[in-house]
Amino acid sequence: MSLREGLKATVERGFVSSGLPAVVRRGRRGGTLILAYHNVVPEGVTIDGERSLHLPVARFAAQLDLLAGTHDVVPLGTILDGRGGTGRRPRAVITFDDAYRGAVTCGIREVVARGMPATIFVAPAFVGGRSFWWDAMTRPGAGGPSDAFRKRALEECHGADDEVRRRAGESAHHPRPVPSDGLCASEDELRVAAAQPGITVASHSWSHPNLCRLGGTELAEELARPAAWLRERFESVLPVVSYPYGLSSPAVERAAAAAGYRAGVVIEGGWVVHPARNPFALPRLNVPAGLSQMGFVLRAAGLFVT
Ligand SMILES: [Zn+2]
Repeated sequence: MSLREGLKATVERGFVSSGLPAVVRRGRRGGTLILAYHNVVPEGVTIDGERSLHLPVARFAAQLDLLAGTHDVVPLGTILDGRGGTGRRPRAVITFDDAYRGAVTCGIREVVARGMPATIFVAPAFVGGRSFWWDAMTRPGAGGPSDAFRKRALEECHGADDEVRRRAGESAHHPRPVPSDGLCASEDELRVAAAQPGITVASHSWSHPNLCRLGGTELAEELARPAAWLRERFESVLPVVSYPYGLSSPAVERAAAAAGYRAGVVIEGGWVVHPARNPFALPRLNVPAGLSQMGFVLRAAGLFVT
């Protein structure tokens, strides 16, 4: 542990033992915290790409147990009525972006074992074992893609997977194989998950582009096509879109409403206060894989210690 990490852990421990999280949580009654997870990986599996997305299952299970003690975990669908909770505890919602195989199998198993609901946001173009560029692209002597590579991927390549890979060589990035748990789930794996009590699916666009860089029919299709694909295959489809990379704009929100969605979620921003000012820009709490247990307690209470 580095000095900085040690200091952070000490500060976090101090906050938790002060009882402050419980006080803050009480003030959050009526609010909803939508948690944004990505992958959950079995013990012993390491995925070298975008490491912050791949949460070890033991850590995930511990977070669910903490949540069970402090929050009412409710389905994402309950926020569509626009009303806040009336219970003594704040509400939490569990969501997974990208439909990673690890999340759809191992992660959902943990959720269901605790009788909790959850929603999986799916980009159908990847279903069936495709990898995502941010996990597959690497450069010599380093883990995932560089910041400059990411920026170019989102802006110049519009976040489009094929285009990002096609231009990767220009910045000395090359594809490498991604372990099975780091690939997108198969349709069958999604079907098994979505058949579990409380598990719903929703759209994460068709092919995971930066929607802000699209317009017209291209944007409309990225939003309409996944909804139709999901409805053809699953009963538990929610009319909610998770914007790829958390990137949205007023034009994207209008297009989502026109495509029939009733809400949209971004990746950060914290609590949903009801009634939400804008149902097409619902904030979430992103849970990075490296977050400590105490850091999770603090963030879930509404104290954002970084
Ligand atoms: Zn995503």
